Amino acid sequence: NTSRLLGKTVLITGASAGIGAATAILFAKAGSNILLLARREDALKSVRDACVAAHTASGLKEGGTFAPIQLDVSDKSAIAGLWDKVPPALRDVDILVNNAGYVIGRDHVGDIPEDVVEGMFATNVLGLIAMTQLFVKHFKAKNSGHIINLGSVAGIEAYPGGSVYCATKFAVNAFTGSMLRELVNTPIRVTEVQPGMVETEFSLVRFGGDAAAAKSVYTGMQPLTGDDIAEEIVWAASRPPHVNIAQTLIFPVNQA
Ligand code: NDP
Repeated sequence: NTSRLLGKTVLITGASAGIGAATAILFAKAGSNILLLARREDALKSVRDACVAAHTASGLKEGGTFAPIQLDVSDKSAIAGLWDKVPPALRDVDILVNNAGYVIGRDHVGDIPEDVVEGMFATNVLGLIAMTQLFVKHFKAKNSGHIINLGSVAGIEAYPGGSVYCATKFAVNAFTGSMLRELVNTPIRVTEVQPGMVETEFSLVRFGGDAAAAKSVYTGMQPLTGDDIAEEIVWAASRPPHVNIAQTLIFPVNQA
């Protein structure tokens, strides 16, 4: 039952592809309004069109306002200026989904270029923290809100060839856990969704667009889809206000 999402406004980072795009479409189907954030404007517009189609097909009167906003979460000044880019009708955000993130390569620790280290931290950790800080203020002022962070199984168990990415996701896990405890007894809910392997553009980005290398990581398994994770996010967001889904770990059946 997603009726609690009718007319709510959701902001999703990394909404131009994968989990973020699938999540946007599912919120659209549930009658929400959505701010779609990512770096690629054309891809965001395609997702906006898919949201319009999903909302129209739902037949719902509520929701249906979608705004693509080009924003790089690793750019602090862009985040500081975010409210200026948000159309007035969509300023009353109820739910923040901090989803933007990526990994590059699977190099051994000594071989990871400095810019790759810094880039992953700037997006996966510093961007997520900056967005959260902005919205904790907003949610405190309106006395309600929900922050949903995309962690990973890589934030619970480190694996070889993923040292920096794992470090970013352990950071997300620690940050989200502290925030959950700080916000206890407030109407602001905090959720961390921790997927295992999901087949999206993630692997393609990881291997610099090499489709064969990207596909090879799923050999012998049926990976999750963006829709599988979107369902988890929308489910967490649509629980009654007294229920906080703190953490969800979600794997393909072939992974443990
Ligand atoms: P995709 O590569 O398919 O999508 C990533 C999204 O993040 C894109 O929309 C991309 O858009 C956006 N993005 C990347 N960097 C930035 C940035 N600096 N500013 C704004 N947007 C950015 O990956 P997934 O959908 O799979 O990943 C989503 C989240 O899920 C990530 O946090 C990832 O770590 C996590 N995750 C993924 C797993 C997987 O196996 N796929 C497993 C566990 C967790 P654009 O390029 O247009 O900016």
